[in-house]
Amino acid sequence: MMDNHGASREASCMAHHILLLGGTTEARALAEQLALRAGVSVTLSLAGRTLNPAALPVPVRSGGFGGAAGLEAYLRENRIAALLDATHPYAARISANAYVAAGRAGVPLLALSRPAWVPQAGADWREVADLAEACLALGAAPRRVFLALGRQEVAGFAAAPQHRYLIRSVDPIIPAPAMPHVTCLTARGPFTLADEEALLDAHGIEAIICKNSGGTASFAKLVAARARRLPVFMLARPAPPDAAQVTTVQAALTWLDHALSRLDV
Ligand code: NAP
Repeated sequence: MMDNHGASREASCMAHHILLLGGTTEARALAEQLALRAGVSVTLSLAGRTLNPAALPVPVRSGGFGGAAGLEAYLRENRIAALLDATHPYAARISANAYVAAGRAGVPLLALSRPAWVPQAGADWREVADLAEACLALGAAPRRVFLALGRQEVAGFAAAPQHRYLIRSVDPIIPAPAMPHVTCLTARGPFTLADEEALLDAHGIEAIICKNSGGTASFAKLVAARARRLPVFMLARPAPPDAAQVTTVQAALTWLDHALSRLDV
């Protein structure tokens, strides 16, 4: 017969199941680190918008949970020991759902969020609240604009059809954007400074619209823009999630060690 200490020892030998909300470089790095660890099993969750996501070293599930209630049910059914929210800083809805679901299910939650970029001297960055403000900020005169945005957002520029748009996305945009003058490219980052300089010059880009995503993978376009004195209209970041937050993969691993050690006592 197993005493309480034996039960506790047995529990500590069982792998803790971690749910990692991903879609970012940081989530991938976390998955790579956690895949090497004994005592944890990880499921990485993707929104499911990229057709062929790059291979990941842990099991992946894809698609929405069905709001906070669906995520709460997932946490309970899968006996999730800790929830790591390493989603994109603009993916505010899933982060808000994670906060509610983790609270209801009693699961420790950590948000890993990249620090926002800050402009370097000489950079011409103008924050815009949303897509409608971005359209207005471009002005009435036609411009050549690089829309460094997700597929979901580019449709908003149908409201400013006078401009010529360059759109780069991982997967083809289907249906094609409704603006009359659009060039669509498919490419997967990270992009080098040489890549971005060549792109801006080849298309005679006069303005960029993007998110303040942080990180290194998509920063080179801003370096190229600064050298060319191009205006960059940045969509304002959503409010950060309510959860405990860190900004690095290493800090997330430290938090996780602490959270799991509390479960093992
Ligand atoms: P969102 O508005 O926060 O999420 C919308 C819904 O998508 C969520 O409510 C959830 O559906 C589902 N979802 C999002 N991330 C998920 C994940 N990791 N696992 C499972 N379901 C997930 O985020 P978004 O629509 O994906 O993107 C909003 C902004 O973030 C856009 O600007 C986008 O370009 C940027 N972004 C997002 C990602 C990403 O991986 N999500 C990556 C790069 C950039 P349910 O409510 O049904 O659970």
